[in-house]
Amino acid sequence: MHDTKYVFVTGGVTSSLGKGIIAASLAKLLQERGYSVTIQKLDPYINIDPGTLNPYEHGECYVTDDGAETDLDLGHYERFLNIPTSQANNVTTGKIYQSVINKERKGEFLGKTVQVIPHITDEIKRRIQILGETGDYDIVITEIGGTVGDIESLPYVESVRQLLWEKGPENAIVIHLTLVPYLAAAGELKTKPTQHSVKMLMQSGVSPDILVCRTEHEISEDIKRKLALFCNVKKEDVIQSIDAETIYDVPNLMFEEGLDKVVLEKLQLCSKKQPDLLVWNDFIQKHKNPTSEVEIGLIGKYVELHDSYKSITEAFIHAGSSNETKVTVRWIHSENLTPKNVEKKLEGLNGILVAPGFGDRGIEGKIKAVKYARENNIPFLGICLGMQMAVIEFSRNVLGMSDAFSTEMKKNCKNPVINLMESQKDVTEKGGTMRLGAWDCKVAKNSKTYDAYQSEQISERHRHRYEFNNEYLEAIENAGMKATGINPKTGLVEVVEFANHPWFVGVQYHPEYKSTVLNPHPLFVDFIKAALKQFKK
Ligand code: GLN
Repeated sequence: MHDTKYVFVTGGVTSSLGKGIIAASLAKLLQERGYSVTIQKLDPYINIDPGTLNPYEHGECYVTDDGAETDLDLGHYERFLNIPTSQANNVTTGKIYQSVINKERKGEFLGKTVQVIPHITDEIKRRIQILGETGDYDIVITEIGGTVGDIESLPYVESVRQLLWEKGPENAIVIHLTLVPYLAAAGELKTKPTQHSVKMLMQSGVSPDILVCRTEHEISEDIKRKLALFCNVKKEDVIQSIDAETIYDVPNLMFEEGLDKVVLEKLQLCSKKQPDLLVWNDFIQKHKNPTSEVEIGLIGKYVELHDSYKSITEAFIHAGSSNETKVTVRWIHSENLTPKNVEKKLEGLNGILVAPGFGDRGIEGKIKAVKYARENNIPFLGICLGMQMAVIEFSRNVLGMSDAFSTEMKKNCKNPVINLMESQKDVTEKGGTMRLGAWDCKVAKNSKTYDAYQSEQISERHRHRYEFNNEYLEAIENAGMKATGINPKTGLVEVVEFANHPWFVGVQYHPEYKSTVLNPHPLFVDFIKAALKQFKK
């Protein structure tokens, strides 16, 4: 068995301090120092997973290869580490309780009262250690969602306390991420909130080994000394995390502050090699010094909350850097697109992306955006629902089937060019029942998709219930829209394209989930390349 070491990341003072980015940056540095590392997120809410959550509540739902619907932080982990995450990387209170209650019903605790301690905490501990025991990782970083002091976080903090005790200080440590606010009126950084939050953590029996302090201003040596004194840590273990221009700067900033070094020391590990961030820094260099700029319209119905499209906007950053191009997103609410204003709202765009989504809100706006892209030769990428809308738009406006639609929006429509998948017909429960995770796709050689991937065999992640209705395939292909990607086993259409358009690709899958700093997604790279060509014209 692998001797895995555990790093816990807790948060104090407020939420939204960027625990996920700190965890991912540390993991990146440890990976660069020669260790195999993964990151796990524990979410204290009671939903089994965010799959049933409205994006307005929770931002994007991120999907793994093995079909887990997860927190968007897992996207950051993959983008930073360039290794896939899995079901085990995201645990929620709902999942913990579900397995304990299932065991109780099976009679596995027969005779015993089932309690938060030890039964819930045992299950949390088991979930934390699964990755270490089965995944061949040297280090597992576990991010505890929420803020220390929240009622719902208590069982997690208690589980961390037990694991620290069981594993010993050289095998398990705690990083506490807090805020050191700046009071403009006093002209001072304040340490009190951090002191309180550490006290709160200590009341649960957990003493932080390292403090990472989020700040808008440089933290002086004096303040570090003060924090160390009040929070039971050494001064060297107080790490400043100053606001960064981009999240991708954070690994460098943490390296300069020595976060990875103190973590290795505490875990009694040596550095196997010096971190080599050459490729990473080349990416940042190009991202920050673009030689050109394109504007892409992102058409969606959750655009008020940009986090709803996190992986898409990050994929733009990766693809932009790879093209040395700044990608500016024009956020366009699909509900606000009307036949009257579509020209005006989309005018001047170098590319149009119609986003994934569910239900009929804003659907006609999406169809109008597709039409505009098709007729005006604007590079187009349609993702999942965006691809389905491309098929509907083409069927209505080119094939003349004015009633073409998806049965998701109109159950008994006469021309259901998008239809519920056969495998979904008996599904009644909403949670975790879509077609999820990685599926193979065979790409036609003579296509934009092949040009991008340079491969006929690809595998991409999915999250949908509806599909291209193959009864219409022949008619649609004869009219000029080609199915250039097909699932080899089921015949399901995965990609549609036009040959006579500068760049028009609709994909049933979600390429955005697989774009990373080291591997920008080929479709996004070529989409931006096409947008750049359009711009130069
Ligand atoms: N609502 C569509 C379906 O279920 C598309 C889903 C999506 O865009 N992820 O097929």
